[in-house]
Amino acid sequence: PAAGRRPLFAGNWKMHTLPAEAARLAAAVREGLEGPAGPVPAGAAEVVLCPPFTSLATAAEALAGSGIALGAQDVAWGDFGAFTGEVSAPMLRALGCRYVIVGHSERRRLLGEDDALVQRKLLAALAGGLVPILCVGEDAAQRQEGRTAAVVLGQAAYALAGLEPEEAARVVIAYEPVWAIGSGQPATPADAQAVAAAIRRLVERLHGPATAAAVRILYGGSVKPDNIGGFMAQPDIDGALVGGASLDGTAFARLVREG
Ligand code: PGA
Repeated sequence: PAAGRRPLFAGNWKMHTLPAEAARLAAAVREGLEGPAGPVPAGAAEVVLCPPFTSLATAAEALAGSGIALGAQDVAWGDFGAFTGEVSAPMLRALGCRYVIVGHSERRRLLGEDDALVQRKLLAALAGGLVPILCVGEDAAQRQEGRTAAVVLGQAAYALAGLEPEEAARVVIAYEPVWAIGSGQPATPADAQAVAAAIRRLVERLHGPATAAAVRILYGGSVKPDNIGGFMAQPDIDGALVGGASLDGTAFARLVREG
């Protein structure tokens, strides 16, 4: 990352952990960051854990008093009302969440979320005082057809265009190529950097240079302790959104340290 942007490492636990397991996993991450190897220097990086809704309360308890933040994996577009099955930003805030993942490719593809819905969720997160982690990314076919930039920038532009510059600066953007998620085949750092730079240029066109310089862009997709260094060496990559490797507390803490 360039100077001035605080690195961010977010663990996306997806549909894993019962409440007691979540407490143990959160405690293991905490131990890995605060424990014998010495505390990760204060202010060095922001660390966010995103358990499923049903494990937020126990994870929050395990993280109380630590510098590790809590995030959710999804948010409703309204605050309260007749939305069976939904969980809103005020509800997440009340559980201690400060972040929320929005538009993850699994929700876009498996749950049918389109750009319009993702945008509404992004707005609800911002209005509710949560920092959205907006996910964008192309699939394998789109990459083969040479449409990576068009797809990624299209998703990002749809979500970001209507925001005020101050709101846009708060959004964290995670570039996650769909083919790299859970596949063990990450993008190369150079390819991820090229897309991250293109996203930053888009933010500059939409919201100006100050916002573009402030906004944090993460890479996600098969990030591990052993490959995080290559991504963090890129000027436009400010951290990572981590799935599989975030389910091992020791590995995730090591990933944060290596980053
Ligand atoms: P992965 O998942 O690290 O297991 O590839 C990343 C994600 O889906 O956010």
